[in-house]
Amino acid sequence: PSGWVEVICGSMFSGKTEELIRRLKRAKIAQLQVEIFKPAADTRYHDEDIVSHNHNSIRSTPVHSSSEILLLAGSCDVVGLDEAQFFDENIVEVCNSLANQGKRVIIAGLDMDFKGIPFGPMPHLMAIAEYITKVHAVCVRCGGVAQYSHRIVQQQQTVMLGEAESYEALCRTCFPHKSHA
Ligand code: ADP
Ligand code: MG
Repeated sequence: PSGWVEVICGSMFSGKTEELIRRLKRAKIAQLQVEIFKPAADTRYHDEDIVSHNHNSIRSTPVHSSSEILLLAGSCDVVGLDEAQFFDENIVEVCNSLANQGKRVIIAGLDMDFKGIPFGPMPHLMAIAEYITKVHAVCVRCGGVAQYSHRIVQQQQTVMLGEAESYEALCRTCFPHKSHA
């Protein structure tokens, strides 16, 4: 039987990692072999664990490029990826190959960067996925549905690792749209 690709997307604090961990833990309960990867660049909480903002965690393997995943996924049944927006564009072919081998591939990542522009390979991953779930944070200004990760410090580079000290979740009304694509 063939596998498939699932994407979990949304802003920071929207519960992507929580939802990824929930799905992966349930697969483990079902006795499936699970392998979890994250970009080695993302070491905000822990070198190896994937940790959600509510401090739920699961063991993962940090990788430096998407091609390592194909080598390391081996004979597992389910592959989880967190922070997929930081992977190179080759991640799309890697995910297709894994699904074609019969694996369930569950990808979590930011769909937009801090300017509201589609982030890295995420649009392409969403296009090839069988299933997409968009989760939302709570807007910290008005309590609305937040889909933007607004940067509250001055740095302008697209990739800037940070947490609540650097980013806040905002809705469409509260997000400053001046630099929006
Ligand atoms: P993500 O991986 O999308 O950044 P996490 O799964 O790590 O999100 O964290 C989700 C958790 O973040 C929530 O369960 C909640 O405890 C916390 N949180 C902090 N700020 C917010 C917010 N503005 N809206 C919703 N949840 C928030
Ligand atoms: Mg996360």
